[in-house]
Amino acid sequence: TQFSELGLAEPVLRALAQEGYDAPTPIQAQSIPSLLDGKDLLGIAQTGTGKTAAFALPILDRLSKSQTRTPKGACRVLVLAPTRELAAQIGESFRAYGRFLNVRTAVVVGGVAPGPQIKAITPGVEVLVATPGRLLDHVDSGKLSLKHVEVVVLDEADHMLDLGFLPPIKRIIKMLPRDRQNLFFSATMPTQIGQLAGDMLSDPVKVSV
Ligand code: AMP
Repeated sequence: TQFSELGLAEPVLRALAQEGYDAPTPIQAQSIPSLLDGKDLLGIAQTGTGKTAAFALPILDRLSKSQTRTPKGACRVLVLAPTRELAAQIGESFRAYGRFLNVRTAVVVGGVAPGPQIKAITPGVEVLVATPGRLLDHVDSGKLSLKHVEVVVLDEADHMLDLGFLPPIKRIIKMLPRDRQNLFFSATMPTQIGQLAGDMLSDPVKVSV
């Protein structure tokens, strides 16, 4: 399979060529067509499989085709990650693959000053990558609304559970609009993660690599 066969928009393909990616990895080839169709996804995959691009590319494709304007203080894509480092990497990936699109990406994580994050999210961002605690701080202080989220990605769900993020994640999910696309990634499927996936996902495509 080639990226050009998956149905991605031209500016996304151009960014991939610039990254030097020749062909999709297995998780990308198996996930991207269903995600472009708007389906929910359950991905069982470790880091290093190309899972970030597997979700970032179809999300960028969707944003490139959308006429919707992102309201102030809101985001349309929410990516939840367990650690600052992973959130930063995901943010970098969205910026790299979206370099030929007008997509604003912000990263919101704990352990750093909230001021610059508030400044970044106030005009509205298409893509917000966040760790759960700091995300809720911004929501609770009224700086961020989750009412316009169209796509939510939960990355490394099992790692989130290990770090005690299940309660904040459940709180966050409850604030999202009902009509949305859900992407769920985990390397393993302990019972509580299977339950969370079952609660969040509707008729998901399952991909295991
Ligand atoms: P991830 O599993 O998302 O952490 O990605 C692992 C690494 O693979 C990252 O450094 C990506 O830049 C790289 N990568 C992702 N997809 C591809 C691809 N289709 N071709 C070559 N490298 C890729």
